[in-house]
Amino acid sequence: MDSRSAGGQANRAEPGGGTSVRFRCGHGAVPGEARITIQRDCPLCMLLAETKRSRAQLLRKVAGGRRTALAAETRIGASYEWICERGHSRFEATVREALTGSGCPKCRANAAAPAARLEGGVPYMKPGLKTRTSMTEQRLRLLLGERIRLPHRVNAVKISRTFYGKPEVWPDIIIPALKIAIEYDDPGRDGTAHRGLKEASDREKDAALAEVGWEVIRVRAGGLDELGPHSIVCPGVSGAVVDRIIALLREIRGDGAVGRLLITGSAEADVDTGAEA
Ligand SMILES: [Zn+2]
Ligand SMILES: [Zn+2]
Repeated sequence: MDSRSAGGQANRAEPGGGTSVRFRCGHGAVPGEARITIQRDCPLCMLLAETKRSRAQLLRKVAGGRRTALAAETRIGASYEWICERGHSRFEATVREALTGSGCPKCRANAAAPAARLEGGVPYMKPGLKTRTSMTEQRLRLLLGERIRLPHRVNAVKISRTFYGKPEVWPDIIIPALKIAIEYDDPGRDGTAHRGLKEASDREKDAALAEVGWEVIRVRAGGLDELGPHSIVCPGVSGAVVDRIIALLREIRGDGAVGRLLITGSAEADVDTGAEA
């Protein structure tokens, strides 16, 4: 057994791990028994929000019999048995590992195999991948989409390692023709998203994309500092931010490649003869 068995022993099935704490999300002790009510979501709900998953998605991955316990689980260190989506043998891992780790050992080995490396960098459509897209993220896509042609049929890029247990990453905006991904980061409602664990995972995601020839532009809003070589630090999404994105695209891949994506009638297309009709 590996170090995970320690987490398994501590893992009691009772909701809230036997504490009398109740969280804002409703998890933890039942109302009558709660000694303390905490005005934030439980650690598991917070990690789900950070990793843009829903609890329903997580519940589909856990081995039968533990679903009820996981439905009420608040601790990210609690250990469960998980089902591989590709039909490999079940594997033991903590909730944190299931959400952020390398997941199924066999999938991890497959992702590192030579055949998988050939597919690295290929963008494709993965149905039902993202559960949460913020209004701001949608606005950025809309504004950028007025200036350059963005594909609607891709939402994932194959990588040559696993990230959150999957052989792909799912950037906010994908521009396959330039092999550039755009990420919108802000600290979120409670000011914790994209800090700590999420920042480390953002760096890992950028590294996974870099390995397969992709560059990442990060729009860092709401007080977040630069992250990576192509950061746009700003208060929020605006036309000026989109200008800076276009300028960075040109800087990274050249005027010719970017010019071919410009939408006729936009400010750039009027001065750039490379634009298609
Ligand atoms: Zn919760
Ligand atoms: Zn697997």
